[in-house]
Amino acid sequence: MNPPYIHVPFPPTLAEKRAIVTTSWDDGQATDFRMMELLSSFGIRGTFFVPLRFKGRPAPLAEALPEIPGDFEIGGHSANHLDLRGLNAHCLREEVEGSKAQLEARGGAPVRVFSYPMGRHDAAARRAVRKAGYLSARITEEYCVHQPADPYQTPTTLSAYPLTRWRRLLREFRAYRWMNVAFLARNWNRTWRGLAVELFAQARRRGGIWHLWGHSWEIERLGLWEQLGEVLRAVAHHGDVHYCTNGELAELLSAVPLPAGKTALTP
Ligand SMILES: [Zn+2]
Repeated sequence: MNPPYIHVPFPPTLAEKRAIVTTSWDDGQATDFRMMELLSSFGIRGTFFVPLRFKGRPAPLAEALPEIPGDFEIGGHSANHLDLRGLNAHCLREEVEGSKAQLEARGGAPVRVFSYPMGRHDAAARRAVRKAGYLSARITEEYCVHQPADPYQTPTTLSAYPLTRWRRLLREFRAYRWMNVAFLARNWNRTWRGLAVELFAQARRRGGIWHLWGHSWEIERLGLWEQLGEVLRAVAHHGDVHYCTNGELAELLSAVPLPAGKTALTP
């Protein structure tokens, strides 16, 4: 399987920067406010992907959109946090387009980016997201520091989660992502924090995008706030790094033409 990313020249508008740092946090739970405080303390920006309802209950952030600090952005994460694959056209429109309109009406700001619930998507879901007017959509693939070939399949660099090394390796192996298998084998002794810092070094060395994502409710449940703080401290306040939200990144990247022979994957 081909990875949904390509290595293209860095956005020319950022010529003086070596890397881009962005973060994204899913599900719109109350612990997101703690996440915003932590990110703010390091000057790191981010996008909060908010469903209208999560596990049948209103998502706390969806009810409190005007309270979100200006450094952060709200992105769409569907109406009911359902697997979007195989939904009929009407339901798909409600989940993708209807939820966008709701978030915009409540928050008074445009909602420009989307994250597929549970990272699950198919061609119809990607088309629906593009047609609804989103600039990009995040998937849950990791270990990427390059520009996505398809903005509607934007991969990430790492999830803030202490997955065991064997499970990490197995997941990439089963998806035939051999470059990721090789990367994990080379970095076998690193914890998730070690991988995060190593991938940041790679992004800075080669000119790339470092995108950390996760769930604040999971960070809370697993007691990972301190570990996350360590990672954020390592990537914060670098003069040669541009810090932005997912939407700002999508805007920057949309100005970069795809290399010859490449066409947009989501029609
Ligand atoms: Zn989610």
